[in-house]
Amino acid sequence: MGLIHLYCGDGKGKTTAAFGLALRAQGADFRVVIAQFLKTEPTGEVTALRNLPRVTLLRAERRFGFTWTLSPEEQQALRREQNALFSRAIAACPQEGPVLLVLDEVVGTDRYGYLDPAPLRTFLRAVPENVEVVLTGRDPAPDILELADYVTEMKKIRHPFDRGIPARDGIEQ
Ligand code: ATP
Ligand code: MG
Repeated sequence: MGLIHLYCGDGKGKTTAAFGLALRAQGADFRVVIAQFLKTEPTGEVTALRNLPRVTLLRAERRFGFTWTLSPEEQQALRREQNALFSRAIAACPQEGPVLLVLDEVVGTDRYGYLDPAPLRTFLRAVPENVEVVLTGRDPAPDILELADYVTEMKKIRHPFDRGIPARDGIEQ
């Protein structure tokens, strides 16, 4: 039975929890498909997963700046890329055998309008039986939260960023 997991909230650990589950599923012979929305920077997980069998990691390759610096045309191009990434991720899931599908940062991409709302919701309302889905991102739209079977909020108690420590390789990225 395919269920939906949601890792949300303002604390650290959403993406790393999703990749932890991906590792567990891969070890149990699942096919793992991971789509990383909005991310183009190199990260440790991309390098780590490159040589792991049964894992497909998908991203949009073109780099855009911070979303608030983009022109309307660039925003439209970004939207097209994120929609294409969603379609590629769904298409990459085999129709048979256990699959873990991680849609990393899809929550923010949806929340801020960089993904068409309908295809995501249509998919989540009728997830194929062989697919377990993981969604991550800070602030889910209420109907997305409602669709999830597991909802886990990472709550920030303290984070070194608040005292000026920037993202560190291997820890934050
Ligand atoms: P991680 O990838 O480390 O598991 P995350 O997925 O929970 O973090 P995101 O909201 O995706 O967090 O954050 C993107 C980046 O910001 C990551 O480098 C993450 O470690 C870092 N981060 C997470 N929470 C906070 C926070 N409360 N304040 C500052 N930076 C944060
Ligand atoms: Mg994340």
